[in-house]
Order: sequence, then structure tokens, then C-alpha cells
Amino acid sequence: MKVLVLNCGSSSIKYQLFDMTSTTVLAKGLVQRVGMAGSTIDYRKGDDGKKKVYECDVLDHKIGISKIFELLTTGEDAVISSLKELDAVGHRVVHGGDKFSSSVLIDAEVKKAIHDCIVFAPLHNPPNLKGVEAVEEILPTIKQVAVFDTAFHQTMKPEAYIYAIPYMFYEKHRIRRYGFHGTSHRYVASRAAKLLGKPLEELKLITVHLGNGCSICAIDKGKSLDTSMGHTPLEGLAMGTRCGDLDPALILHIMKQYELTISEMDNLLNKHSGVLGISQISSDLRDLEEDWPKKSERANLALDVYSHRIKKYIGAYMAVLNGCDAVVWTAGVGENSPIVRSIVHREMSWLGIKLDLEKNEVTWRGAEGDITTPDSKVKVLVIPTNEELVIAQDTVECMK
Ligand code: AMP
Repeated sequence: MKVLVLNCGSSSIKYQLFDMTSTTVLAKGLVQRVGMAGSTIDYRKGDDGKKKVYECDVLDHKIGISKIFELLTTGEDAVISSLKELDAVGHRVVHGGDKFSSSVLIDAEVKKAIHDCIVFAPLHNPPNLKGVEAVEEILPTIKQVAVFDTAFHQTMKPEAYIYAIPYMFYEKHRIRRYGFHGTSHRYVASRAAKLLGKPLEELKLITVHLGNGCSICAIDKGKSLDTSMGHTPLEGLAMGTRCGDLDPALILHIMKQYELTISEMDNLLNKHSGVLGISQISSDLRDLEEDWPKKSERANLALDVYSHRIKKYIGAYMAVLNGCDAVVWTAGVGENSPIVRSIVHREMSWLGIKLDLEKNEVTWRGAEGDITTPDSKVKVLVIPTNEELVIAQDTVECMK
């Protein structure tokens, strides 16, 4: 069974074609600058083939997806002989509101529900939907599946998802905490169970997803009990350019003091805050870690604030879970930054965590591993995430 996974952003399309009989990647890549000048398409045959970059005009998502289909089926790097070999397409959809607690086959009703959630994710759901409609136009009979970032967190109880504001906002407008990165938290939790050699149903886990966006999740018996992102992906941890948790009164104060409009404030909190805002150097942790701790005081401060917030959430989630078997680190920073992992787990022995500093230093670049000492009561694992694989697996499940 061959499944194409699509992640359509506002100006990009990430894709991966899986052969799910052998669970192998046949091809993958990225279309960049959709709808802009200078669009390009990266194409890699297999999981680690040589990347080829093609320049071409990609005016919209439909053209982008047509080009992907062309690369998959024609030329020396083709991996299927025709689109008839394709069995289904799985889409990453950012927001499913409280309508979806699992992945679903897409029909007119599901499309309407994704459309209705645009108010919650105005930047993400529209391109996600465009991807679905483009595939529908090119291949009208193919089955498509939506895999929602929010679905995994639908197991949160009201005490974790209700904001302490007038209840009317929840009743009338569904304003509540939803959480994101669900596919990634779900994947690394199930890999952690394999690594620990125990059923997921017997484990209490804290998963830490640190990429461009960052979130942390308390998982009991495979179910999300709480997560740090909220109604939008702005709440919670400090991120590359997003502020995370903030005193809400500050927003009013800054807007008043600097006479900012709503969109200027939105921009400040989403694009100019986080480690970029503190350091004024970069949103990319690699730049702040270069020469650490000698680079600059501000780079160190940004790293310390970023790490302190993670530490605080780990402590809080140990309380929420009433225990913890393992903390799992994943995504760009989580998988590759021994520095952040060591700052966070410094002096956590009272909570049962003892980091093995040497293992921490050498576990990165796609490696899975336990980075604690043998006597550490709580394990710390590094597990590379694989959201695309989960989307492909869910697509196969929904086809059944
Ligand atoms: P992701 O969204 O998972 O692709 O993660 C992207 C982020 O991972 C980048 O913005 C970097 O800050 C971070 N990152 C990637 N590689 C490293 C590394 N070797 N050390 C620290 N951070 C990294």
C-alpha cells in the first residue's frame, strides 16, 4: 500500500511517499515559496537519497502538488510508474477543534469542520484545506485522511483545558485549551514504551517537543492529561520567536504604552519574542549555543530562560501525573542539544533524575537513547520524532 503524506503550510508543502507494506520511504521533499517568486522543489529518492533541487513556478498549492506527482512518476528518479499506484493521501491538519479525537477519512462534513476551525488557526487550517482540495481536483477518487495536531489532547479533562475567564467564552465560542504537536507526542510516547520494554498503558511519561515551536505533554497510560500549548500555539514554553506564558496584563500595558495595534502586538508576541527577543541574536538555538557559555551574556540568558521554563513544566507535570517513569526529548532542539538538556536536568536528583553527562553529549543526530545513569529512578530518553510515519500509519488504519 502506497501512501503520500502532505503537510501544506501557507508557503510550503512537505511531502513523503511511503510504501506501507514494508514501512519504507520511497521519496520525500519540500516545495518552498509557494505563491512567491523563486519557488523551488527539493526531491530525495528514498529516505536518505541525494537531495535534488528544482526551480519552477509554483503559483499555488495545486501546482505544487502536481509537480510533486510529476517527480514521483517521471524521470530517472521516479519511484512509481503512475498515480494509479497511489492508494491514499494523509494530511497533517493543525486544528480539529473539539470535533476530532482521532484521524478521519475526509468527506464533505470533515472539510466543513476543518473550515469551521479556521477561526482557531487562521494561518494553518486554510493551507491544510487547500492541499486536500488540490488533491481532490487532480485525483477525484483517491481516499484522503486528516490527521489533527489537536486530536491527541482531546483526552484532557476540563480542569486542564478550561481557562479561568467567564465560562460563556467556552460555551459560546469554544475558547479553551486545545494543545498541539499531538502527532509527535503520541509517536515518541509509543517509542518510549518500546525502549523501556513496558506497555504504554503502564507508563507515566513527560514528552518534550522542542522545534521551532515548543510544547510539553503529560501522558498517563498513553493519554494526554495536560500540555503546554493552549488555544493557540503561543502558550507555554518560551520558543524560537514566541513568548509562551506571559502575564496577560502585560499585553494591555505594552499596547497602551507603545500605542500598538492588535496586529503589531500579535507580531511582537509571535515573531519577535522567545529566545530571539531576549538575545537579539537569533531564534535558532545553534547560533546561541555556538561557543557556549562564552558567546555573550544575552545568549546565555536566553538559553537559561528557555531551559528554566522547561524545568518548571517538568516539575508541574510530575505533580499532575503523580509520578513519572521517563522524560522524553524530541524535535530539532530536543534531539540535538545536549546543552539545553543538561541545563534543564541539572540538580533534579531530588525528583529522581540523574543525567549521565557523557551519554547526553553523544546522543544526537537521529539517535535514540537513554541518557541517565543506571540508578536514575526516572529515565531521560532522546527519541527522534517521526510525524510523517504516524500520519501514514493513521491513513492506513482509516482506510480499513
Ligand atoms: P524542528 O522544528 O524540529 O525542525 O526544529 C528546528 C529547530 O531545531 C531550529 O530552529 C534549531 O533551533 C533547532 N536545532 C536544530 N539542530 C540543532 C542543534 N544541533 N543544536 C541545537 N538546536 C538545533
